[in-house]
Formats: sequence, structure tokens, C-alpha cells
Amino acid sequence: MRRTRRLALLPPAVVLVLAAGCLATQQQEVQMGAGYAAEINSKLPIVRDPEISAYVNRLGDSLARLADSRGLEWHFYVVDAKEVNAFAVPGGYIYVNRGLIERFTKMDQLAGVLGHEIGHVTQRHTIKQQQKATGASLGITLGCVLTGACNNPAVGSLVNVGAGAMMAGFSRDDEAEADRVGLDYVVRAGIDPRGMPETFEILMAERKAKPEGVASFFRTHPLEEDRIREARALIAKVPADRLVGLTEDSRAFQQFKARVKALPPSPASPSP
Ligand SMILES: [Zn+2]
Repeated sequence: MRRTRRLALLPPAVVLVLAAGCLATQQQEVQMGAGYAAEINSKLPIVRDPEISAYVNRLGDSLARLADSRGLEWHFYVVDAKEVNAFAVPGGYIYVNRGLIERFTKMDQLAGVLGHEIGHVTQRHTIKQQQKATGASLGITLGCVLTGACNNPAVGSLVNVGAGAMMAGFSRDDEAEADRVGLDYVVRAGIDPRGMPETFEILMAERKAKPEGVASFFRTHPLEEDRIREARALIAKVPADRLVGLTEDSRAFQQFKARVKALPPSPASPSP
């Protein structure tokens, strides 16, 4: 009974698509994404500072408008969580945790992550992932996302990564494709693509030193040395003249980062 009621919260078209197992139309994807985003935004601590939000949306849009041929409306959010993570929701909703932003040293690193997450949406990994979820796990995740159950700390952790695990947990092929298209968006936006492998290196170094801080990121983003090598190999194929004069950093990014850093401490997250 309760499950039926939860599913009833989804638009009928979405339930039908999930049941039929066919790929959602764009309208269904947008509808589903908007529903999830509304729930995520009510459950996760989203940073509402207007300058922080304006900056991440400006940078994100500068990539998304080159990436997206479907005319989606993109939304970029900073989550006030100290864990390192980033995730994408179908329909064009991208989330980056404060913990990840605080580890970046330059703008091109944030751009690399945004490009990668945008890639998961444009290549329709997010919507495919969602539709692949079996009835059982979908029920649990939706139950948690769509009900107040997440206020229980034990269940809340499900949503916290949750939102990430549900949308992410992509295959290595999907990750490689998101890296490849993400690097292309970054270069086309006039930004240095080397920020992407640099981010991987920052995270891998931290995994060696202090694994708990990056555990949730590594759960949803497979990352090993070969992925860094592949990203560098892709960059090596970019014609040299296209790599000249690309932006690595900006004053606006450093101001944004300082503002994120100066926020009051993040609310405690439930232990995973
Ligand atoms: Zn990914």
C-alpha cells in the first residue's frame, strides 16, 4: 500500500516509462529530473548564498550551452556538505559538494568536474541509470527521497550519498564517455582541460592520506591511475593551437572559493 502511494507521487507518464523499461522522452526526463531535484533540494543543505549560486551557474551554463543540443534548462547547486562529491540528476540538475570545491586550487578543476557531470546528462547516463534500477532498489530510493523517512539519520545517509548513488554508480564506459565529452566542452568554452586530470590527482592523493574524506566520491566515481592517463591521452590529441591561451584560473573563481570557505561549518552529515 505504502509503496503504491509513493509511486503515485510520480507523474503517471514516469511510472509508465519505468514499468515499460523504454527510454524516457525528453519531456519525461525533464519531469522526472525536476521531481527528484525538488526532493533533493528539500532534503540536502543547499547553499543559498546568491553570489555562490550565481557563480556556479554562470560557469556551468558556459559549458552546458555548448554541450546541450536539447535546450534543457540547467541548474547548478552547491551542497553544504564537507564530503567530496558531485552528481547529476536527469534533465539538467548538477550538484557539487562544498567539500569538493574547497579542495580545488583553480577554476579549470571545477570546470572539469562540471563538464563531466554535464556529460552524464547529455549522454543520457543519468536517465538510463534511473530506468535500469530494479523495482526493489527503486522503491527504496524513491521511498526515501519522496517521504520524510530521510529525516531518520540512518536513512538520511541513503539520500545523502543517495542522491549520488541513485544517479551515479555509472559503468566505467559511462565514466570514460563523461570524461571525454566533458573535456571537449571545457576546451570549447576556452578553459584549460588539464584541470580535470589535476582534480583526479588531488582526490587520489587524498585517498592515500585520508580516505574517509573522499569515500563517497570513490563509491560513485570509479577512479584509478588509468583514468588519469586516459584523460591526459585525450588532451594530448587536442591540436596544440587549441590549447593556447585557455583559461586556467580567474579572480571570480578565487572569490567564489573564498566565499564558500567562509560559510559557517557544514551541518553534520549522517555517517554513511
Ligand atoms: Zn561520473
